[in-house]
Amino acid sequence: MQRRNLLKLSAALPLALTLPARLAARVMSPFARVRPGDPYWPTPAQWSELEAAVGGSLLRPQALFAGCAASKAACDEVAQNLRNPFYIGDQPGGTQVSGWLDAWTPAPSACGVKARNAQDVAQAVNFARTHNLRIVVKGGAHSYLGTSSAPDSLLIWTRALTDITLHDAFVGEGCAGKAAATPAVSLGAGCMWIDAYTAVTTRAGRYVQGGGCTSVGVAGLVQSGGFGSFSRGFGNAAAGLLEAQVVTADGRVRIVNACQDADLFWALKGGGGGTFGVVTRLTLRTHELPEFFGGAWGTIQAQSDAAFRALIARFVAFYAERLANPHWGEQVAVKPDNSLELSMVQQGLSREEARAVWQPFFEWVKASADYKITDELGASGHQAQSWWEIQGNPSMIPDKRPGASADHGYWQGDQDQVGAFLHGYDSLWLPAALLDPAAQPRLAAALFAASRHKKVDLHFNKGLAFATPAAVKASLDTAMNPGVTEAFTLAIIADGERPSYPGEPRPPMNLEAAHGDARAIDAATAELRKVAPQAGSYLSESNFFNARWQQDYFGSHYARLKAIKKQYDPEGLFIVHHGVGSEDWSADGFTRLK
Ligand SMILES: Cc1cc2nc3c(=O)[nH]c(=O)nc-3n(C[C@H](O)[C@H](O)[C@H](O)COP(=O)(O)OP(=O)(O)OC[C@H]3O[C@@H](n4cnc5c(N)ncnc54)[C@H](O)[C@@H]3O)c2cc1C
Repeated sequence: MQRRNLLKLSAALPLALTLPARLAARVMSPFARVRPGDPYWPTPAQWSELEAAVGGSLLRPQALFAGCAASKAACDEVAQNLRNPFYIGDQPGGTQVSGWLDAWTPAPSACGVKARNAQDVAQAVNFARTHNLRIVVKGGAHSYLGTSSAPDSLLIWTRALTDITLHDAFVGEGCAGKAAATPAVSLGAGCMWIDAYTAVTTRAGRYVQGGGCTSVGVAGLVQSGGFGSFSRGFGNAAAGLLEAQVVTADGRVRIVNACQDADLFWALKGGGGGTFGVVTRLTLRTHELPEFFGGAWGTIQAQSDAAFRALIARFVAFYAERLANPHWGEQVAVKPDNSLELSMVQQGLSREEARAVWQPFFEWVKASADYKITDELGASGHQAQSWWEIQGNPSMIPDKRPGASADHGYWQGDQDQVGAFLHGYDSLWLPAALLDPAAQPRLAAALFAASRHKKVDLHFNKGLAFATPAAVKASLDTAMNPGVTEAFTLAIIADGERPSYPGEPRPPMNLEAAHGDARAIDAATAELRKVAPQAGSYLSESNFFNARWQQDYFGSHYARLKAIKKQYDPEGLFIVHHGVGSEDWSADGFTRLK
């Protein structure tokens, strides 16, 4: 940022006093963070010092539609790009979700640092700690729970940290002689998964376990555990973490791995983003690329409720027989209109093998007059290396902005999610025991009952019960709820509407309908809870209002995570909604309660 911009920023930050930092720290309440307008908000001179220390990369984030009042052209530009996740991610005030009914609304930070390296992050962390500011960390901006958006905060934005290095034989710092060298990739925390896949798979012919949605940030996903389409074969994304560079609340830039700061390293593997420090670089194990990636698809419409019940029961049995293995992931939707929508993916099977797997089920469907195929049924397998190619890939939507990377694109199937406003969202890990033949009727009945209220999406790649033994072992060594390894799927029930950002020119929301939707989501979830009362939930894809989040997200790991949090962040500098230690803070993260 140029000096004149900084002056503008300073002028906009009201009522700054000029207390020396040490004195300020003494007189400020230890129980509340400061906001713009508070007497102890940093002075213009102090902001200037920070700006100099971070090489001018201080900025003042704006709400996405902030420009609308001043200029129609600015407003139009945002509106035109609103369905492009790469555009949203490039905006300091951007969030990939436009809000959640009665939960949270995007709000830009008071100011931010667009970090160029770990030292910039350390400067920002030290500044926030000294001046008692609320920190918020943002990478790819995909938090459903709104944890990378906090008004009146100092934003630490990792978007510019995009270095990528491939290693043939990586050994973590301090691990020589203790850990075997392994092929790996180091990713700056600003990378998105498409950057990782382009470098590792498309260009180098190997595999790294990341997320399904290509524009999700690598650091946010790994810290929440993280699943991709092929997690059954390779474990959750956190399971592949070999090392991280992280700036902790004391401002130290640490290299953490199984050999040094091992507890903190473990906590970063699924203990939640924005909680233990700011990750600036991740090193992830890479794997041999399977020969084939592919999928199975189609939509089957049942002609009556009874036929739909029978279809669900048949699919559950077929799933247990043929799909409960490391090959098959992604989704099946059980819908209120009595249709079953297949959009599954597989790794490791040729086209012929994939078709052979599905043949009995497809034949059963086609043989009955009770079912109409409304979207052709099929299965495939093809060369894995081209899976994430963007150009010429009909399943991918490229980032078409002038100057955009030719390697950036996102799945057609993710389009509806970009900028969506949520009415409600919930998820449960359904235990594999429900697939036992004796339990299958209860599972099928619960799915039918839930689908009377809302569509139920079964994400099979997000339950690891039928993953490879190596994937299960590695995933159990993460901070995620160990219950994930006993689940055959993560059931997600969610709904919302098209973008509704603050200030966006659009017709007012129908709040009554939106609340009705939220109630329907709760009702559908309650039906599934009847057969899985103790089911946990995946923190990144979960209910904002979940009252038992500690247990659901982390299970038996919560006490250990809380102790690690206390050790590395005793003053609670890093607080997010339903993050470890957040129960000690007010909902806005500004006031310490205990
Ligand atoms: C459209 C969409 C698709 C999704 N698809 C998948 C999927 O396929 N698989 C899956 O497992 N999940 C998926 N998710 C959930 C997603 O993985 C999580 O929301 C994840 O945390 C997002 O990371 P981010 O960096 O993009 O988001 P952000 O909102 O930037 O960050 C998420 C959280 O991590 C923190 N954080 C981010 N970067 C850092 C850092 N460098 N250091 C410390 N903390 C940090 C933030 O403070 C915030 O609390 C999806 C979400 C959306 C909205």
